[in-house]
Amino acid sequence: MKIGILGGGQLGRMLIQEALKYDDEWFTLDPAADAPCHTISNFTHGNFDDFDTVFNFGKGKDVVSIEIEHVNVDALFELRECGIKVIPSPEIIQIIQQKILQKEFYKKHGIPSPEFQIIKNKSEADFPLPFVQKMNAGGYDGKGVQVIRTREDLESLWNVPSVLESLVDIEKELSIIVAISESGETKTFPVTEMIADPKLNLLDFNICPAHISAAVETQIQEIVNKFIAAANAPGLFAIELFLDKSGKVWVNETAPRLHNSGHQTQEGNANSQFEQLYRVLKNLPLADTAACGFSGMLNLVGEENFSGKVKYEGLDEVLKLPKTYVHLYGKTETKPGRKMGHINVLADSRHELLDQLIHIKSLVKVTA
Ligand code: ADP
Repeated sequence: MKIGILGGGQLGRMLIQEALKYDDEWFTLDPAADAPCHTISNFTHGNFDDFDTVFNFGKGKDVVSIEIEHVNVDALFELRECGIKVIPSPEIIQIIQQKILQKEFYKKHGIPSPEFQIIKNKSEADFPLPFVQKMNAGGYDGKGVQVIRTREDLESLWNVPSVLESLVDIEKELSIIVAISESGETKTFPVTEMIADPKLNLLDFNICPAHISAAVETQIQEIVNKFIAAANAPGLFAIELFLDKSGKVWVNETAPRLHNSGHQTQEGNANSQFEQLYRVLKNLPLADTAACGFSGMLNLVGEENFSGKVKYEGLDEVLKLPKTYVHLYGKTETKPGRKMGHINVLADSRHELLDQLIHIKSLVKVTA
């Protein structure tokens, strides 16, 4: 089959890396000439947010998918009109692209998500403090999100269409990856805990399975069931969740694609999120997602104050460790906060896993 992916970053790269054991032709489209997929697929250099570029790229493929949601969705609707399979559906991509539509989607389908107000500009803001402002479009990795705590903070509201959302008193940030096949089969990966680095606002560690109560598991299962019914189309989705201090689970947002919170599935589960998306794209039986004990992931992120040709300090020490797996994304240039790779770790207990992750974090540095 000819499979086209909009975006040629690390998510696409790891998908193709996994799927090369099967017989398919892979095509990727990315605006960066040296994108991580450029050497491992039939690569087109171009913008995935341009109608003609996306339409021409998709023509002649059997299935088109994404590894980033900021793509030209009109071209995806048009491709589908021409009989090309598009997974996930252009409808769900369109909803997720816009925080306003995404929040309305949760509300409509009874999926618990923090209370909110929609504003077109800052003069409309009328929401109890403290709250979080989220730009309607264009935000990612914590950009386009700000916390407004006091009346003085109201001055710094961005004057753009946004969602104002109650500030959740977060106990834990969790994620669950859900696969829906065209035949209607569904499967989830075990819930993962995401531990963030407050300075970079970027995901830092993943720990799987999450340490949560049965009551929390039940709430998450209800959310997953509602999401599957509401999405009503094939795809692989990462639902990002907040567990608040009172034990209630809220949906933060959903990614209609492979996700950083699922990287440890490469060695930590019977099959990875990459294998699972492949199965979805080909409408094959979904893969077993069982966990092999405890698994975790540490992002390799460009250190502050270093830009240029990348150097991975301490990697040799890491490679000597048992049950430790290094994944680099083929990016030659580092800059502060850039995701360059990750390290997966397996362990027999949560305690051992955390110790090992912290130890590894102290060993490696991404510099230039
Ligand atoms: P992005 O899409 O850029 O990753 P998110 O909506 O996930 O943005 O927000 C980034 C981070 O901001 C979250 O991981 C969380 O830590 C914090 N955050 C977002 N919304 C809320 C909220 N309603 N209450 C508390 N913290 C929040």
